Amino acid sequence: MSDGHAVGTDRVVVALDVGGTGMKCALVRPDGVAVHTERHSTDAARGPAAVVGTILDVAEGLAGKARADGLTPVALGIAVPGVVDEARGVAVWSANVGFRDVPLRDLAVARLGLPTALGHDVRAGGLAEARLGAGRGTGHVLFVAIGTGIAAAHVVDGTAAVGAHGAAGEIGHILVRPGGPRCGCGRPGCLEAVASASAIGRRYVELAGGTPAEPVTAAEVAERAAAGEPLAGRVWQEAVEALADGLASGQALFDVSTIVLGGGLAQAGHRLLDPLRTALHERMTFHREPRLVAAALGDEAGCLGAALLALDAAGVRDHQEKR
Ligand SMILES: [Zn+2]
Repeated sequence: MSDGHAVGTDRVVVALDVGGTGMKCALVRPDGVAVHTERHSTDAARGPAAVVGTILDVAEGLAGKARADGLTPVALGIAVPGVVDEARGVAVWSANVGFRDVPLRDLAVARLGLPTALGHDVRAGGLAEARLGAGRGTGHVLFVAIGTGIAAAHVVDGTAAVGAHGAAGEIGHILVRPGGPRCGCGRPGCLEAVASASAIGRRYVELAGGTPAEPVTAAEVAERAAAGEPLAGRVWQEAVEALADGLASGQALFDVSTIVLGGGLAQAGHRLLDPLRTALHERMTFHREPRLVAAALGDEAGCLGAALLALDAAGVRDHQEKR
């Protein structure tokens, strides 16, 4: 699998991570290093057809940029949010981007003529963290992204489980507080209704007697809690306890060696990790306690994961040799 020779060193893959507001794009070498990055606006309000048009234009532009720089683009990887049928290459459903059964892989192959992989944004991010980031060198990783929602990727030996319907990893909808706050999915008490970054901010404002017009971010709640404000401390601890319940369920199911926390909330660093480690420890009975670490790749993870999917589609896995 070694291609440290002239033939291999000029190969790159084109990678796109498509979000509701922006696209992170890169040309990535087989060793997982991005040699060129770009950001573009998604502008999802234009409708799914226009977004697909932009994705294909940007991908084609990146492939052209690679060739102009003397590089050979060998594959394309695209990560999108929502429900993704990776086997068929179809973006089945996405609230953020408005996709409904978009055959994105076939459209990209028709336009660029490159092997193309379509993946899910959080699973792609988890793949990158497991193979290149904070979970590197460990075979069993649970990546949990905590932002406006909570979603996970279970990665075993460098492959993220997709599920029978393309919807594996929805850890945010584990029931942790029966009768609790109503989740976006319609059920009360889901993990993300209690412990997502948006839920933490909302809960704080609610208990402080404020209105949603005066938003407080989860980061501010963490800061106020650290400064000793009792209400913030209570809200933060409630979220930590709920997260620990969710992660303990994840550990019971998957028995991983490492849990990697990503997304906006993970930027709270030790203010999140320290109490969460304690709360998770208290919940372990016979289960082996996983290592709990912060993500290492930041918001590049999804794009790097799309690149890894592309490398896999092209049959190139050089970075594995560095584990
Ligand atoms: Zn839910």
